[in-house]
Amino acid sequence: MAGEPQTDCLFCKIVSGDIPATIVRESDTTVAFRDINPQAPTHVLVIPKVHYPDAATLAAAEPQIAADVLREAGAVAADEKVDGSGYRIILNTGSGAGQTVFHAHAHVLGGRGLQWPPG
Ligand code: 5GP
Repeated sequence: MAGEPQTDCLFCKIVSGDIPATIVRESDTTVAFRDINPQAPTHVLVIPKVHYPDAATLAAAEPQIAADVLREAGAVAADEKVDGSGYRIILNTGSGAGQTVFHAHAHVLGGRGLQWPPG
């Protein structure tokens, strides 16, 4: 069922605690943890606790939780003190765009100069 935990989903297992992660923030609806392969001094993933395959699908089904993800992404940037210098929230959507984990997530990247456009 939409939103239910998926047994084969890596990020559902992080939500349940079956796979460890360095959690930096948690809310009723979201978890934020450090990326295992950081691309910047701050590289945190913010995920909804419910399972949807990508951010747009989450937003269509659960707009309040999608807003929670964005709010928590901003809070991570403030916690990490990268909000002053600027940071990026990235929502890779689809394998052609580099999405490798099909549980909605926002990357929060900061702490270094960020080029535009991204590659
Ligand atoms: P995507 O490529 O789908 O946008 O982002 C998935 C992210 O999850 C990647 O940046 C990857 O490094 C990260 N990742 C993959 N496996 C794990 C894991 O087991 N733990 C953590 N903390 N991050 C992971």
